[in-house]
Amino acid sequence: MSLSENNSNSEAVRAEALIEQIEEYNYQYYVLDQPSVPDAQYDRLMRELLQLEKDFPNLVSENSPTQKVGGKPAHGFPPIEHLTPMLSLDNVFSEQEFKDFARKISERLDLTTPQGEELSYVGEPKLDGLAISIIYRNGKLEHAATRGDGRTGENVTLNVRTIGSVPLRLRGDFPPLLDVRGEIFIAKSDFEILNRNAIERGEKTFANPRNAAAGSLRQLDPRITAKRKLSVYFYAVGSASDGYLASSHRQRLQQLKSWGLPICPEIQLLSGVNQNIEYYKLISEKRDQLPYDIDGVVFKVDSIDQQQQLGFVAKAPRWAIAHKFPAQEEVTKLTSVDFQVGRTGAVTPVARLEPVFVGGVTVSNATLHNMDEINRLDVRVGDTVVVRRAGDVIPQVVSVVKAERIENAKKIVKPEVCPVCQSAVEKEADQAVYRCTGGLVCSAQRTQSMIHFASRKAMDIDGLGDKLIELMIDEEIIHHLSDIYRLTVDKVSTLERMAEKSASNLIESIENSKQTTLEKFLYALGIREVGEVTAYNLAHQCLDINTIAKSTLQELEAIKDIGPIVAGHIVHFFANPQNLQIINELQQLGVHWPDIEKKSAEMMPLTEQVWVLTGTLSQMKRNEAKQRLLALGAKVSGSVSKNTNVLVAGEAAGSKLTKAQTLGITIYSEDEFVEFLDRIGG
Ligand code: NAD
Repeated sequence: MSLSENNSNSEAVRAEALIEQIEEYNYQYYVLDQPSVPDAQYDRLMRELLQLEKDFPNLVSENSPTQKVGGKPAHGFPPIEHLTPMLSLDNVFSEQEFKDFARKISERLDLTTPQGEELSYVGEPKLDGLAISIIYRNGKLEHAATRGDGRTGENVTLNVRTIGSVPLRLRGDFPPLLDVRGEIFIAKSDFEILNRNAIERGEKTFANPRNAAAGSLRQLDPRITAKRKLSVYFYAVGSASDGYLASSHRQRLQQLKSWGLPICPEIQLLSGVNQNIEYYKLISEKRDQLPYDIDGVVFKVDSIDQQQQLGFVAKAPRWAIAHKFPAQEEVTKLTSVDFQVGRTGAVTPVARLEPVFVGGVTVSNATLHNMDEINRLDVRVGDTVVVRRAGDVIPQVVSVVKAERIENAKKIVKPEVCPVCQSAVEKEADQAVYRCTGGLVCSAQRTQSMIHFASRKAMDIDGLGDKLIELMIDEEIIHHLSDIYRLTVDKVSTLERMAEKSASNLIESIENSKQTTLEKFLYALGIREVGEVTAYNLAHQCLDINTIAKSTLQELEAIKDIGPIVAGHIVHFFANPQNLQIINELQQLGVHWPDIEKKSAEMMPLTEQVWVLTGTLSQMKRNEAKQRLLALGAKVSGSVSKNTNVLVAGEAAGSKLTKAQTLGITIYSEDEFVEFLDRIGG
């Protein structure tokens, strides 16, 4: 009998609809490893169902997804029954809900304090991967299974054997039988590489690292799993031979470590509710720097005796809770797509969205990168889309909820002409980006190049921000870069909301900016693909701007880090008489820089070396560290590879540090770095 026959009210109908929808999502997530909606959407439906079942207990059936773990094991892998069930975790989403959980524990354990202030918990990051059970018999890996439906999992032994951090043999005084539980995951950086390669090969990408880990482990061919860089942290014992296990969870984790099973280094023993709340804050702050994805923290009562007293509910232990982080992915509607024109003419599609709260802020715009990405996502105006905002990264549309596509969803077409100046739009061979061919005719390009020119790393004109530049271009007070140095207090004060005081402050910063360096000036000119490092190398190899302007392709290509494409952009820039005229005018208006002395080889002791900076530096800004390394001849790269010579790791260094450790690269702390600079006089 269906729920709606049993209960004629609307709650039963709603419960049935929720169950059907959740089961479909479970199938996509657990069996196909391809969820179509973000976890936040799934969690909302699950919570609604839980509330309905709480309010109307007769709606609870043993088939409800609230009573079951995971999804059915997939075909293709032999089923394997767990020695003890593999459960899920209950969730809380706020501090108050966590306190309510702690209060219930205190009541059940008959503690004297309201929230069990004297109780010890273990705090652990909630790793976003998939659960694994591994059986070691006499210290040898016997088999490994996924969680499946909690009772029966999939036998993935051959695949698990390919994971480097899973020991095939235990060490030390291990129990003859051990069923150990942990989470298999993929590092954020490896996830990015995996998806990038998939895009290049025209294959399907994974929605997030969790699905990438699950999809990589559940491969019928273990050779494919071996190529994906999976890792594991262990966090519990399912069962073990009598007499071996310690009496607290924390000590058991230490035992696992001593037997050679890796545990997460962020795990902490916590005493009382306040320390749990502090731990949640600490891990939230670290989240972006951790090399792997987490979606919350887990708190577990430390004493095994107390765990046993508390016991289990249908699908989760009563002695543990997951405090989930606010969602980094949400669903919303794509209302339109605008094409924005950047400094170099790149025409970039920007998604306009119904405002949605995600990653801690309200998002109403997201990048769609380029037309290739639009086609890959098959995204249309009117679609329901998944938007991701993680850390400081610009929000992006990551997928489309195809099941919710409306009938008249509109295909997005590339603009035939520049949306700002109506010049033709062109695409270079092998490039995904369309560009406006208008150059300085295009006011959008002019505005963006002026914003770049005035920015901190360029001419550093304090007070000359985006809005003011847009306004001055609109009011036709400035047309070209050089006009900035023709501004006067009188001219600026005519602008709306510009009092005389702010006008004279602006003129003063414009005046101050005239004293610059050749590399900053070159960077400020906004030559395509000439970033700070290229500008530095150009300046320090060629020594003056006239030499650069006259350099041939071959001469430029001989300079460190300059390849044929960048050399082409530089030659093209200086071949344009309008650009030469602007440079000339800027110099005549007073922009100047000190001469650069050619450095001898001894003064460049780090030539040929590749350095990487990561984490937070406290004794100098990251940019200063970079400039000092460049001045010593080093190449400063953004990512660690086997070619890296030294990694400088500041506070809270994350995935780059881990990678450097794995590759055996020299690592300097900030103090060691400063000492090194002092020693070599850099
Ligand atoms: P869960 O992921 O919320 O929590 C339980 C799991 O956490 C454990 O099985 C284990 O694998 C993992 N875990 C990570 N670190 C751990 C640690 N330190 N200690 C213990 N366990 C740890 O629960 P679940 O039942 O696996 O999945 C439910 C969640 O999955 C939902 O809340 C939702 O976010 C997501 N989901 C999403 C969809 C979708 O369509 N987007 C569908 C199904 C499930």
